[in-house]
Amino acid sequence: MTTYVYGFSQGRREMAGLLGGKGANLAEMARMGLPVPPGFTVTTEACRVFLATGEPPPELEDQLARHLAALERAAGKRLGQVDDPLLLSVRSGARFSMPGMMDTILDIGLNDLSVLGLGKTPERERFAWDSYRRLVQMFGSAVMGVDSALFEALIGGLERQHTVADDSRLDTVDLIRLVEAFKDLIAERTGEEFPQDPSEQLRRAVLAVFASWDGERARIYRRREHIPDDLGTAVSIQTMVFGNLGPDSGSGVAFTRDPATGRPGAYGDYLPNAQGEDVVAGVRNTVPLRQLAELDPGSYKELCAHMDRLEAHYQDMCDIEFTIERGKLWMLQTRVGKRTAQAAFAVAAQLADEGLISPQEALARVDGDALAHLMFPRFDTSDPDVGAVVARGVPASPGAAVGAVVFDSAEAVRRDGAGEQVVLVRQETTPDDLPGMIAAQAVLTARGGKTSHAAVVARGMGKVCVCGAQGITVDPVERSFTTADGVTVTEGTVVSVDGTEGVVRLGAVPLAESEVMRYFEAGGRAPDGEAQQVVRDVHRMMALADSARRLEVRANADTPEDAARARRFGARGIGLCRTEHMFLGDRRPLVEAVILADSAAGRTQALAALLPLQRQDFTGILEAMDGLPVTVRLLDPPLHEFLPDRTELAVRIARQEAVGRTPAARDRALLSAVERMHEENPMLGLRGVRLGLVAPGLVAMQVRALAEAVVARRQAGGDPRAEIMVPLVGAAEELHLVRNEVDAVLADVARESGVPLDCPVGTMIELPRAALTAGRIARDAHFFSFGTNDLTQTTWGFSRDDAEAAFFPAYLDRGVFERSPFETIDREGVGRLVEIAVAEGRASRPDLTVGVCGEHGGDPASVHFFHAAGLDYVSCSPLRVPVARLEAGRAAL
Ligand code: PEP
Ligand code: MG
Repeated sequence: MTTYVYGFSQGRREMAGLLGGKGANLAEMARMGLPVPPGFTVTTEACRVFLATGEPPPELEDQLARHLAALERAAGKRLGQVDDPLLLSVRSGARFSMPGMMDTILDIGLNDLSVLGLGKTPERERFAWDSYRRLVQMFGSAVMGVDSALFEALIGGLERQHTVADDSRLDTVDLIRLVEAFKDLIAERTGEEFPQDPSEQLRRAVLAVFASWDGERARIYRRREHIPDDLGTAVSIQTMVFGNLGPDSGSGVAFTRDPATGRPGAYGDYLPNAQGEDVVAGVRNTVPLRQLAELDPGSYKELCAHMDRLEAHYQDMCDIEFTIERGKLWMLQTRVGKRTAQAAFAVAAQLADEGLISPQEALARVDGDALAHLMFPRFDTSDPDVGAVVARGVPASPGAAVGAVVFDSAEAVRRDGAGEQVVLVRQETTPDDLPGMIAAQAVLTARGGKTSHAAVVARGMGKVCVCGAQGITVDPVERSFTTADGVTVTEGTVVSVDGTEGVVRLGAVPLAESEVMRYFEAGGRAPDGEAQQVVRDVHRMMALADSARRLEVRANADTPEDAARARRFGARGIGLCRTEHMFLGDRRPLVEAVILADSAAGRTQALAALLPLQRQDFTGILEAMDGLPVTVRLLDPPLHEFLPDRTELAVRIARQEAVGRTPAARDRALLSAVERMHEENPMLGLRGVRLGLVAPGLVAMQVRALAEAVVARRQAGGDPRAEIMVPLVGAAEELHLVRNEVDAVLADVARESGVPLDCPVGTMIELPRAALTAGRIARDAHFFSFGTNDLTQTTWGFSRDDAEAAFFPAYLDRGVFERSPFETIDREGVGRLVEIAVAEGRASRPDLTVGVCGEHGGDPASVHFFHAAGLDYVSCSPLRVPVARLEAGRAAL
């Protein structure tokens, strides 16, 4: 019989797939002997059955009942008993943390009778009714589907009568009235009474948590975080403990190190006389955890000791939720904590220094996304006239972002869709704000600490966030916020949000390079004593990665400047120089002349005019990459891309004719060339090697320009290492034909100059046919470079120019794939072709060099695949080179 429910004593940390992160870690803490309120966990497997069939597994009811009975025996009280009832929390917990995205129901077990038992002493009366109010509210919205805003509106109405700023000062009579109003609301909206039977409450709460896996916000969050849709959530059921029993109670969230900077020491927020949900929701402002040392020194000391144990046990920074009930500390949750990019590097380096983990493990703990984040720019506030500060708050998620303020999620989504950058400003965020948070550049809230929903979610997404900006008053109805000095900022006003400093300024503040970027720009040399800690941490991880990695990293660069920059960033050569980029701008007329030439002599002349320019380009790039390989790709895109737009040209000519003027002969010639060369499917048309085979002289000109550049660099004492790459080959015969032409030109230039030329000649593998016939193609190729952009396009039959906008959103939504295959290599299909081509290519030419130069070369997950597939190098844009180096190192661990 399948086990669908595990007591905490039966689980362990490694069982997160089955028990969810929360359930597995609760079990682990219980095993470690930490004070965890007793409970049990319903597995993700039960959830999967429910999601697939709409019914829980038949065994679940019995198993739940058995675990509940054991819990009741141990507690010496029963769920829903009239006198001092046992109360339960029912919380979601997936394999990967999805903060606030699924449902939680607290205080299960209360009803019209047991609330009286819970509140039988006068000092407990208010607490009991507040707990019942919370249960009816949570159950009503999460389980029975009543809009949560309607409950909030009833609370707001009462608050306004009392003119209090939060719900903590409603008295017992208010709360009794609220419970009644909530129950009436539920009955009116659902036609059903709030259930009084505690076991029905429990059963329905569990199913509601299961169902919340498929809720809209959970699905949006999963798509954004690339969490698979089929995992399901576990449900942890635990004895309630109460942080709202008076001044000697409270709830908090703590980190074993600062999640923003990684600095060691206990960080967090504490809220006296409150439940944990109040802390996370950010509805009341918390105090820093340090103050707990004064409020309740005993609990603080005990908490710090547990945190030390947890960090040593998990060998990582942990975050913790805890509650103090009348001076007794309870641990409600722990997990390896989410952190900023800066903190990720800092914590990894410190843990290695402390000997808690090996340097290799430290490298495994950081990643390319975090590194890319650290390379983003920051605000330059050196100008004294920089915009006035309109808000100061908690620096919850670092970075710099500029945008127009908006006051609700829908407006953020709307403006983002129209291409505008926005900053979402809210009193506090709730999980319903998720679409707006994704759309916004930054998030600003008036309430909440570092652990509020806004902060946790923004940090997870790497989105800039300032929260708890106490001086501001947000008015979502008027769509404005007012600063402490009385300045009103209305919707659409542009502000600059500095999530590193926790400051918001009016206007668009200019951006300055980050220290980490400066470090790479300066060649990534060992930092001196003046360097910022983050630079030292990054340097250390880069050094570890460079010594671990087998993959070489090259760059895609077409200018000497980009080449030089890529080299400073650690590129060991150029893997793709797209020569078509050298034909644009003011050289376009020269290319037009090649296309329009109506005789062989005319074409030769036009090509001859391009040759010195190409030679000059190549010389500069070879100089910048002296001593390192420079792979020059022959012209790829269709020639008509160099001609003007057909419609524009036709309209121009028609206008001239309409006013009785004779159109320029050149325009007419251009139009007829454009029409002659028009293709319905240019991506599958006359491009790449095909162009070289049908446009006489083009290949010869490019090869000569490159060969002469090599000669010039050699004569200047340099060490040029040019390689020639043929694009879009589908058949060995195509490469063979071009190869003959290339070899002949190289031989000519060598003879003329007296300089021997031994440029390797290779091909891109970017068509499925090339991958499948790689063995034959390799006979004429010194190297392969996978053009995974075209290979993805042609393997899937997706247009790389249109598919992402046209239907990928639907595909992602419907689970065809979790990431765009143009971003992360599709291992199963495109990856399979790569593997076949590597194997067959090397079988026919054992010394074949193999690399990749599609966009995937700078994508972390894809780099790991290319490492495993045995490639020699990845090539990516210069800015991604550090990311590729780091990931190549991690892939080799
Ligand atoms: C590719 O197709 O992956 C490639 C690198 O070439 P391009 O993007 O220039 O077509
Ligand atoms: Mg290509």
